[in-house]
Amino acid sequence: MVNVLRSRFPVFESLWQRFPDNIFIIRCEQDGGFVIEAINPALERVIGMPSAQTAGRPLEEVLPPIYLDSVLARYRECVARRAPLTYEEVGGAEGEPRHWLTLMVPATEAGGRVEYILGISRDITAIRHAEELLRRSNEELELRVAERTAALEAANARLLELATRDGLTGLFNRRHFFELAERELARARRSGLPLSIVMLDLDHFKQINDSRGHAAGDQVLREVAALFGLVLRETDIVGRYGGEEFAALLPDTTREEALHIAERLRAVVAQHQVEWRGEVIRCSASLGITHLDSVAGGTLDTLLERADTALMSAKSGGRNRLVVSA
Ligand code: GH3
Ligand code: MG
Ligand code: MG
Repeated sequence: MVNVLRSRFPVFESLWQRFPDNIFIIRCEQDGGFVIEAINPALERVIGMPSAQTAGRPLEEVLPPIYLDSVLARYRECVARRAPLTYEEVGGAEGEPRHWLTLMVPATEAGGRVEYILGISRDITAIRHAEELLRRSNEELELRVAERTAALEAANARLLELATRDGLTGLFNRRHFFELAERELARARRSGLPLSIVMLDLDHFKQINDSRGHAAGDQVLREVAALFGLVLRETDIVGRYGGEEFAALLPDTTREEALHIAERLRAVVAQHQVEWRGEVIRCSASLGITHLDSVAGGTLDTLLERADTALMSAKSGGRNRLVVSA
């Protein structure tokens, strides 16, 4: 067949000689065997045998046994379907496996039987390797993006914490307390739900600093701050209002409920013992309470002022007690 093509189409000879991909013509025998009719110089180089040595020989004599079965299966499929077939396979007798993209075109005789199969096979190893490399570097890139994103998110969370929390106690700082409290106050006004504010100031705290040192005072502040968590709800907002003064905003809390909560706060602070260098430090707190109803139309500042005034009354009344604003 190849001789017919060569003689009838001189251009085919040139193509056959120069084509960079492998071209092969296989004769399909009546008994189902496949015999090599011709292979182009490109395929000669791959196989390592000149066309003269392969022509006329059955496929099984030339193909390496490891992928003979899969190749034969393709030829049989092409014969059975009597239609062109494209497939990709990985092969290579020695060294690195190579990827081949193969097109097979059957040539039928007058009776419809497939007489020849003309095939072109391209080495696409470099493309597949490049794709694999790209896939891996994309994966690495995605991983790095994910890592960077996580680091950024952590840094943002840390920044947010620094901007909104008090470094010593972990409670909201004064500025953020005001921000959240304004929001809660507006919500309470819209919903008509009650709202209470409790101010708490430690009694004679200066004496702790003076007698045990500033670090002891810090530890007391930390532990007292943690006590709020035992008494208050998740929805309550607690901030460090000043040095040893704390403010708690209690949404949806009536005057009576606030009184009850404040009393519990007073009690837990008074009962708490701070262990400091083998000694026990105790302290108490005075509390002032106010309620949204009691100052209809009041701003946050007015509410806090009222709570503070009540707190001052608690101080002058003897400390370790609570006073509700009029
Ligand atoms: P009173 O019962 O009237 O409230 O007396 P007090 O001693 O608690 O109040 P005063 O306002 O006289 O003193 C508060 C002290 O709190 C003074 C200040 O040095 C101390 N202080 C403020 N912030 C901190 C802090 O972060 N750490 C420590 N250790 N002390 C602090
Ligand atoms: Mg004090
Ligand atoms: Mg104070």
